[in-house]
Amino acid sequence: MPELPEVETSRRGIAPFLVGHSISEVIVRDHRLRWPVNPDLPAILAQQPVHQIRRRAKYLLFDCNTGTLLLHLGMSGRLRVLDSHQPLYADKHDHLDIVFDNGYRLRYTDPRRFGAVIWTYEPAEQHPLLSHLGPEPLEADFDADYLLEKATKRQVAIKTFIMNAEIVVGVGNIYASEALFMAGIHPKMITATLKRIQALKLVDAIQAVLGKAIAAGGTTLRDFRDSEGNPGYFAQELKVYNRAGQGCRQCGHPIELFRQANRASYFCPVCQRL
Ligand SMILES: [Zn+2]
Repeated sequence: MPELPEVETSRRGIAPFLVGHSISEVIVRDHRLRWPVNPDLPAILAQQPVHQIRRRAKYLLFDCNTGTLLLHLGMSGRLRVLDSHQPLYADKHDHLDIVFDNGYRLRYTDPRRFGAVIWTYEPAEQHPLLSHLGPEPLEADFDADYLLEKATKRQVAIKTFIMNAEIVVGVGNIYASEALFMAGIHPKMITATLKRIQALKLVDAIQAVLGKAIAAGGTTLRDFRDSEGNPGYFAQELKVYNRAGQGCRQCGHPIELFRQANRASYFCPVCQRL
């Protein structure tokens, strides 16, 4: 599943070809995404310039004159930019093309069709899919004071807490596991007991692990037009995730695994404390 770093990598990969250019045509081959694609979308987008492509959580926001196109990659979606010299044969999972007046074409491919392409006339942040979201993990309003304030009001496991998009967006299972290891915090620790020093370490760790994944994704950008970028987490050495039974890279004790909120949780019982 594309996580926040892959979505950010996609944004950085496509934006240079598309931003500042106008849409000449939209081709919808299959409307059946997570929600049906608005049949008026081609007419709405025609001749509109894309002023910028932003990211909020795992949504890409294409700001146009009269509104914003929200695009989510779902479980298996990906984006490519094709130019007019490439063969335009569409595969069966190539559900949507947005053609620009500079000859480039944004192609959305999604075998499982859990993605979303939604038009809104309202400011994007007020859309029901976005309005409840917590801060971006890499922006200044996500800091130890914020995390502590939210944590002390709750009695939930810290891992479930940081994976809650209303607290902070974009911390998926892999990144939560790795960040808690880096901060020395047990995934089952109850939020109300979080200390200030732990909140500081945890914010640093979340930012480090996501920042590193985005930087790793960035190394595939030069190939973005022709091929699929490797997810950022393949490019970095995982400390605990998917390493049950293997030695901790810090202390050598075997990494342990348990089920938590229906997700696999990996941790080192020596390095991570309750
Ligand atoms: Zn350890």
